[in-house]
Amino acid sequence: MTVLSGASAVPQERRLVTALPGPRSRKLMARKKNTVADGVATALPVFAARAGGGIVEDVDGNRLIDLGSGLGVTVVGNAAQAVVRRLTAQASSFTHTAFSVTPYEGYVEVAEALAELTPGEHAKKSALFNSGAEAVENAVKIARAYTKRQAVVVFDHGYHGRTNLTMALTAKNMPYKHGFGPFAPEVYRVPVAYGYRWPTGPQNAGPEAAAQAIDQISKQVGADNVAAIIIEPVLGEGGVIEPAKGFLPAIRRFATDHGIVFVADEIQSGFCRTGQWFACEDEGIVPDLITTAKGIAGGLPLAAVTGRAEIMDAAHAGGLGGTYGGNPVACAGALGAIETMKELDLNTRAKAIETTLKARLLALADKFDVIGDVRGRGAMIAVELVKDRETKEPDPRAASALSAACLQKGVLLLVTGTYGNVIRFLPPLVIGDDLLDESLDLLQEALEQLGCGTGETSPRREAS
Ligand SMILES: *Cc1c(COP(=O)(O)O)cnc(C)c1O
Repeated sequence: MTVLSGASAVPQERRLVTALPGPRSRKLMARKKNTVADGVATALPVFAARAGGGIVEDVDGNRLIDLGSGLGVTVVGNAAQAVVRRLTAQASSFTHTAFSVTPYEGYVEVAEALAELTPGEHAKKSALFNSGAEAVENAVKIARAYTKRQAVVVFDHGYHGRTNLTMALTAKNMPYKHGFGPFAPEVYRVPVAYGYRWPTGPQNAGPEAAAQAIDQISKQVGADNVAAIIIEPVLGEGGVIEPAKGFLPAIRRFATDHGIVFVADEIQSGFCRTGQWFACEDEGIVPDLITTAKGIAGGLPLAAVTGRAEIMDAAHAGGLGGTYGGNPVACAGALGAIETMKELDLNTRAKAIETTLKARLLALADKFDVIGDVRGRGAMIAVELVKDRETKEPDPRAASALSAACLQKGVLLLVTGTYGNVIRFLPPLVIGDDLLDESLDLLQEALEQLGCGTGETSPRREAS
């Protein structure tokens, strides 16, 4: 397949010229070890030299198939033409004035684009920040200012960042929170409809989990104390969990009935990733506030809170902002990324990626009983690995062994999930079908090498 326009000039083929990691990566890793804090770990031991389309080329000249897109960021690919064109022009006229000192048009244009693209016909406003965590923190500030309430409700398996407040909002202890407390108060965690692991089965998960969550909020927190309910419409770091059908609408309705600000954290699931501009559209959810980052700006650090104008305006003048929030170069990158998403119709492309990935992964699930579940939407797909399909005991070692084996073959795959047993497929949306197919051939080889077994004698994987 030809490289989709908008991808950079990196040849779109896998190529291994050294063992991985190669000698240059090894040298750089030794320098990193001497000078970069150990807490800043790397998932993969190779250093990047350039990237584009579905390929990351390392410093030794190896070309790896990219199924991670830099943690789900490069939806439009690396160095997408429109991103580079716009940010280069912006960087040569000015790189920073601080929007709160001398404002500029790019910031306003991004806010206009967000108002147009996010769900709902109501009047909307936005505020821009540097990172996803910062956007989530500001959504909480805004919801508290608007409701004059304090409590914040989040969900099992949720991930919202690594700053102090967002550590409190995030569910998983290791590696995100361990030893870093005390955490911010007035944060309450309730169940989510995790279909594959719901005790009474995926068909009951939506209504039952919603009832439990609502009961806990009502009885333990008190709905009238709740400023915001924050949820990822597809839970990314928690293991690419799509809340079972009916769960999100029930929680949305509960929020409306009790004057609670419903915040969709679309930092990972937004901007075409799931085949919609925003994943909450699949169940017709209109959030009060929506947080975005990752895919928004083709790799530049930018994040936003967008929502109902009357809620967004609740914070007093000067209450929101920061030195760099909505940096002009990052805004230019966002305008270039959004232009690319529209021009290449990346929502349609995400759906095609889902079709390709799911067909191949379901076929692998028939052969390899380590695959307990295949799930996700668009270009946000995952397989959950288990030791036994009956007990669903998580198999994190299989997940790390598989991702390591795939890396040796030149495929970048990320492991995630509360139990560390989920392999996720989060490719740039401009990846070619040939690279996707090749990566799945290589995944199959890796499964065979690791002796992951045949599923012939095992109960069939549950459809979800
Ligand atoms: C990545 C992520 C965040 C945090 O974003 P950072 O830019 O890393 O601070 C918050 N929420 C979700 C859903 C994410 O995936």
